[in-house]
Amino acid sequence: MCGIVGYVGDKKAVNFLLEGLTKLEYRGYDSAGIAVDCGTNIFIEKAVGRLDALKEKLKNREPEGTVGIGHTRWATHGRPSDSNAHPHSDCSGKFVVVHNGIIENYMALKEDLISRGHKFISETDTEVVPHLLEEVYRGDFFEAVREVLNKIEGSYSLVFMSKDNPDILICAKQDNPLVVGLGKGENFIASDIPAIISKTRDTYILNDGEIAVVKKDSVKIFSRAGQAIDKKIYHKY
Ligand code: GLU
Repeated sequence: MCGIVGYVGDKKAVNFLLEGLTKLEYRGYDSAGIAVDCGTNIFIEKAVGRLDALKEKLKNREPEGTVGIGHTRWATHGRPSDSNAHPHSDCSGKFVVVHNGIIENYMALKEDLISRGHKFISETDTEVVPHLLEEVYRGDFFEAVREVLNKIEGSYSLVFMSKDNPDILICAKQDNPLVVGLGKGENFIASDIPAIISKTRDTYILNDGEIAVVKKDSVKIFSRAGQAIDKKIYHKY
């Protein structure tokens, strides 16, 4: 269980992602990575070791996109390595996910996905999640995420990106912390408030089972059943 960040707005996402991950460094980690929507594709870079190793890899090739996610990993399934670092994607590269926690039933899900032709490149429990999304996606990103959440068991903070839905991040949590920071024309996701406190003091602190659909001008919260929730903003003084 380590760090997660996400950004949707008008600014270069990589700046907040790296700054936010730096603020979460105190939680400890063995690798780090980011994904940023770049129009034609979702750019992914990751590196085992310190955040500096990731920053070095990004030197002179930082993505320009304004929607992205970032992750620091504390390995539970699969050794610390570049390929086991998050974000993880599906076979097509259309879905990208970061995850803190453990997907308890990943073995059975992975075997089933492999029998359906999915190719796995990491040893993580997490990688089943983007492949599941690819499997169930019928054009409605939110419905696909709900379907995936109904299939996985365990503890998680998860953030989902979809190439077909470049202006949206969807996040969900179960037994792991996740907050959404509310800005003006930009919104933030983080596993802990220190990552976003310099940007905003207005947050939604997600409860287990809640799903947030985050765009630059709106944040909507839903139950796992898909019902809209009227959630109170928590203001941190
Ligand atoms: N279980 C996942 C992995 O081993 C996530 C670990 C974490 O919480 O950082 O990649």
